[in-house]
Amino acid sequence: MAERVLVTGGAGFIGSHVVDAMLSEGHDVVVVDNLESGERENVHPDAPIVETDLRAPALSQVFQEHRPRYVCHLAAQASITKSIRGPLVDADANIVGSLNVLEECRKSGVEKILFSSSGGAMYGEPVKLPCNEEHPVRPLSPYGAAKAAVELYLPIYRGLYGLKYSAMRYANVYGPRQNPAGEAGVVAIFAGRMLDGQPVFINGSGEQERDFIYVEDIARANVRALTSGDDEAFNLGSGVGTSVNEIFEQLSTLTHYALSPEHRPQPDGEVFKIVLNTEKARNVLGWQPRVSLEEGLSRTVESLRDSGQKVTS
Ligand code: NAD
Repeated sequence: MAERVLVTGGAGFIGSHVVDAMLSEGHDVVVVDNLESGERENVHPDAPIVETDLRAPALSQVFQEHRPRYVCHLAAQASITKSIRGPLVDADANIVGSLNVLEECRKSGVEKILFSSSGGAMYGEPVKLPCNEEHPVRPLSPYGAAKAAVELYLPIYRGLYGLKYSAMRYANVYGPRQNPAGEAGVVAIFAGRMLDGQPVFINGSGEQERDFIYVEDIARANVRALTSGDDEAFNLGSGVGTSVNEIFEQLSTLTHYALSPEHRPQPDGEVFKIVLNTEKARNVLGWQPRVSLEEGLSRTVESLRDSGQKVTS
């Protein structure tokens, strides 16, 4: 059945794919975004966009006017490095901003919120790989702490006001529309620089491993979680660890890049190795990734080529 879905951060990388996935399911979508890192052009023309900050009074008007049944909450300050440089700025956007969203959900009688959390930043350096949802939560950055804090509020809003939720703990998401000039997203940054013939910097040895998941798979998980997996947290990843050096090699081949990488120090706040166990999402949401790393990297490079997006170094 067609439902009204409000997507915060719908002009951003992942949010814009969530918008597309919701529209293709026949839902009626409205986007809230302050366009701080998002782009209006990312948003499907069938989804109206209200340009406002999560902390502005206009947020309330959007909820009252559109009366969504579901909220996909993706808007956030999404950089670990920025959160270390400015923990107060990060907490204001990511904790206070999210609380504003929860408050508006409560006031306008939203049935369920999907919160975009992080499987890469919640658990810290894992004691056991792959990490399942029961792994201790001990983030290494203010960004991770903010995600963990918001996850603590979710069951409180469920208990007090009946607002259902799913906490969507994404692995390293990559794919078209990720900003190659941004601070996060090794695939977009490497591919963008390779296509521009610029030097590519690998942090540390490059042997650090991440769990890379294609953005359309994440968007599909959001569709599944509208109507399943209430009041649970889900790891959403590929379940496979891939080193940054392997990503460099595969992208070099796809972009015909001939230069060697330059190494620089590993930034603080990032784990060395993280792979997510996604059994729960398979069993409860009936979700599993469909796009292989090889296919996803190829699609990402093609979309960067097509967009002619330039990297400003
Ligand atoms: P993004 O920066 O592309 O998207 C975030 C969007 O939110 C942007 O369009 C931005 O303009 C908007 N926004 C930021 N602050 C806002 C505010 N205060 N009010 C209104 N709009 C605001 O980032 P993304 O990679 O698409 O991430 C989306 C969500 O997924 C975030 O919550 C992020 O923390 C989470 N996440 C991302 C990854 C990843 O690998 N990219 C991994 C784990 C979790």
